Amino acid sequence: MSKPPPRRAIRTTVSEPEPRPPQQFAPAGLRKLQYCVTGLPEISKVRGVPTRTCVGCRERGAQDLLLRVVAVTAESGVESVRPDPRRRLPGRGAYVHPRTDCLALAERRRAFTRALRRTGPLDLEPLRAALGVRAQGD
Ligand SMILES: [Zn+2]
Repeated sequence: MSKPPPRRAIRTTVSEPEPRPPQQFAPAGLRKLQYCVTGLPEISKVRGVPTRTCVGCRERGAQDLLLRVVAVTAESGVESVRPDPRRRLPGRGAYVHPRTDCLALAERRRAFTRALRRTGPLDLEPLRAALGVRAQGD
């Protein structure tokens, strides 16, 4: 004698979304660590600022903080890397932090040669001089 209960579709107004608990993907400590590793928030904080990648340490930074360099071929045929602080020189440019360590890193990896699409050796002396770095050894 059981009668199914009357199923009247009662259309209520859209129910309020359930309040969601704060999403926890990882313990706070771990999240913090990940931020430190990726360093992304640092960059995303600065909106609308063009960023470039340093050919030395491979870190991205605001264009203003990086020095543009271009390859210049002298009459003698020697190609050298020249700083282009005003970013006006024509041709392909590369960016590097104006720091000794980034310059050394880039040099060790031949990053300038690659970034500037050169095949031969590049004289970094003009760039070193501009940064006030003395050539080591050599
Ligand atoms: Zn760098």
